[in-house]
Amino acid sequence: MRVAVGGIMQETNTFCAVAATLRDFAPYVRRGDAILSTYKQTRTPMGGFLDAGRTEDFTPVPTFFAKAVSSGLTERRTFEALVDDLVQAVRVATPVDGVLLALHGAMVADGTPDADGEIAERIREVVGPEVPIAVELDLHANISKRLVDNVNILTGYDTYPHIDIYDRAVEAGTLLARTFQGHIRPTLARSAVPLLLVPQMQQTSRPPMATLMEEAHRLEASAGMLAVTVAGGFCYADVPHAGVCIVAMSDGNRAHAEDIARQIAQQAWAQREAFAVHNLSVTEGVARAVRAKSGPVIVADVGDNIGGGGPGDGTVLFRQLMAEDAQGAVIAIADAEAVAAAVEAGVGGTMRTTVGGKVDDRHGAPVTVSGVVRAITDGRYVNTGSYMTGAVVEMGRSAVVQVGGIELLLTERKSSPFDLEQLRSVGIDPTQRQIIVVKAAIAWRAAYEPIATEIIEVDTPGVTSTDLSTFTYTRLRRPIYPLDPDTQYL
Ligand SMILES: [Zn+2]
Repeated sequence: MRVAVGGIMQETNTFCAVAATLRDFAPYVRRGDAILSTYKQTRTPMGGFLDAGRTEDFTPVPTFFAKAVSSGLTERRTFEALVDDLVQAVRVATPVDGVLLALHGAMVADGTPDADGEIAERIREVVGPEVPIAVELDLHANISKRLVDNVNILTGYDTYPHIDIYDRAVEAGTLLARTFQGHIRPTLARSAVPLLLVPQMQQTSRPPMATLMEEAHRLEASAGMLAVTVAGGFCYADVPHAGVCIVAMSDGNRAHAEDIARQIAQQAWAQREAFAVHNLSVTEGVARAVRAKSGPVIVADVGDNIGGGGPGDGTVLFRQLMAEDAQGAVIAIADAEAVAAAVEAGVGGTMRTTVGGKVDDRHGAPVTVSGVVRAITDGRYVNTGSYMTGAVVEMGRSAVVQVGGIELLLTERKSSPFDLEQLRSVGIDPTQRQIIVVKAAIAWRAAYEPIATEIIEVDTPGVTSTDLSTFTYTRLRRPIYPLDPDTQYL
């Protein structure tokens, strides 16, 4: 049995000013056997698909895989080029007995609000109606009807931080194999809930999300069910299908799948008020971090969440840390110009330049900085924690600059704080620092929660602000809660 393996993954924040271009995907594009060499024995979607081939006795045929860090709308020609590459590679792989696809589920391309649905439809056209397609999606997917209509099997991450990416990929591969072996007939039902959730409230290990996941797992275990996916959705994509969505997969019984999906949707809706956020202000948050007796205190810059499309160059917390004369603090800011200035100054030299706040005017103004360059690296590291273990991360050239009591990590590419290697790779031992700013909502917790003495979530402004009233939605379906408090559902 031959199974085509591939995918395209990007989470699109339509409020982010920076379009995703081929340059953003390029470091992570893999074709054919390069997928095997890059991803075998990694706990990634591709790694999981490949391992499923071994346990289920099918031959994975690697086609095309690309991903990029979350940013704004994917440029039209970039999207077309990526999809053409994937579709062409799957065509070359045919005939196949099945397809394993890794998508994010919240990708938006210029002119294509439902990029993931489009990709699934194009793959369906290539393989025809009889070949089963299994897709693995992120927990933050905005799952469209079009996507569900074009696949047979759907598994979504059950965790946030996403530490079960590999397991859900293996699950997709296992269900696919059982399907083409004739053991099961996966039947999908989708229930979209008119509910927008900010990422920060989707942490799956604490209520209200934990409560919802528990109910989903309980129903998933009922007779005849194959899997249940609870997608919290991605509220920073202004598209009609954004929001919470439940997909239930039964073995051949559509009514049962529909019933289960509806029950979980009902529970999500009943819990809607519990998803409200209460963060500290910037001044309160930083003052508390500076006063803390021991560290590391983790300060979450929720409004500049890189994994959610933040530019990674927000300066609001950096400025406040300087104002409070914070000691032993670390903050990473993506700024290629500042990296160039640091490289020019050289290790031991003094860099004087403006840092951050350059991408747009939502994340604070540039800060004029003078500091000694402590380190310069190629910005490459390998994840060793529980998130995407084994995957290589490319921050671009990177520099550490000492600015008063603050170590400023400057990177050419914005890079999420998902693994302690990010700091270790530039010579910073995070366990030995007092304050660490993480530009993320929840995903940082897999790496940093075990070493944190205290966690402070701060209400910073930006394209991933938790205050949804700061965004102007024009394409989103309405009414939707909490933007429209009187929304009726079920
Ligand atoms: Zn996610």
